[in-house]
Amino acid sequence: MRSEAESRNLLLFKNARSPLHVCLGNSERCLGPFGFAQGKTFARHDKKMKFLETLVQTFANKPIDWDELEESLIRADLGVAMTTRIIKTLQEREAWSLMGISDVVKVVREEIARILPANSPPITPEPGKPKVILLVGVNGTGKTTSTAKLGRYLQQEPILSATRMDRHTVLLAAADTFRAAAIGQLGIWAERLGVEMIQGQYNADPAALCYEAYQAALARQIDFLLCDTAGRQHTKTNLMAELQKVKRTLGKHDPSAPHETLLVVDATTGSNALNQAREFKSAIGLTGLIVTKLDGSGKGGIVVAIQDELGVPTRFVGTGERLDDFALFDRQAYIDNLL
Ligand code: GDP
Repeated sequence: MRSEAESRNLLLFKNARSPLHVCLGNSERCLGPFGFAQGKTFARHDKKMKFLETLVQTFANKPIDWDELEESLIRADLGVAMTTRIIKTLQEREAWSLMGISDVVKVVREEIARILPANSPPITPEPGKPKVILLVGVNGTGKTTSTAKLGRYLQQEPILSATRMDRHTVLLAAADTFRAAAIGQLGIWAERLGVEMIQGQYNADPAALCYEAYQAALARQIDFLLCDTAGRQHTKTNLMAELQKVKRTLGKHDPSAPHETLLVVDATTGSNALNQAREFKSAIGLTGLIVTKLDGSGKGGIVVAIQDELGVPTRFVGTGERLDDFALFDRQAYIDNLL
């Protein structure tokens, strides 16, 4: 049962009509003073991805066949360049007749460790102004869910300031104005997080909405403004032009904004994710990836392929549908979870 205050807040969100609306979640209920379990650290991606498992099973009790090995590595989404390097290293290093699958796994792990950056840079607030994070990606990859998960993650990050005893503050902007469902969905997440959401009318200009959201974030001294953008695939040119406009418009407030442009990709889509990364990178530039659906998919090589080919690092991973199924990317945890 919703309390009277909760129902009022939800109504405020549902009935919003003016060009710029605010959904105010019940921060007392959602956050408490520090309502999210204090000191809770996000589980490193503790669910095994096991994307090398098929490889191990394939070669369990038989000699390594180079063609088959090449095919298996490509099927694991590691990318052509990486696959070629792994095979070359193996051919140079191992006596072919003695080589077993454990040698292959060892070299795969070493090559991946060489490619992926050791540390994922954390997202820290900008002094005296909102840090703007643009979340982009095609529909269905988990963009809206990841916006909410990132919001929660940032709320929980410890504040490194002797003068502040509170939590980081977050404002969400529902800049996917072309899908009423996306606005509604983000509104529900905003409620759960106990944060405000700026939304526009259906079909409103996303750039104008982000502009207004920035003003709101500045006025409220918000630490992080998270903009959930549209991802319609069928009008790619328009979509990229629209995202470029969002970036330009935010830059009018702060030339360094958006400070982060994170592409959300679905790990299970393999080479599609690589293509998406190519297109978004060339159109708007990317500071990192959020790779979703690493849970139970047996996929995950795309993290390596995108870093290897495009130099775009994975910053966060999504490992489920719940708010907590999210973690800062950790190279060692990733390598440990390959099998
Ligand atoms: P959007 O269209 O890109 O905004 O995608 P949504 O955020 O609506 O997510 C699409 C579907 O993917 C939803 O059913 C989410 O619950 C689900 N989803 C998002 N992230 C993950 C994840 O990391 N793992 C799993 N298993 N599902 C996810």
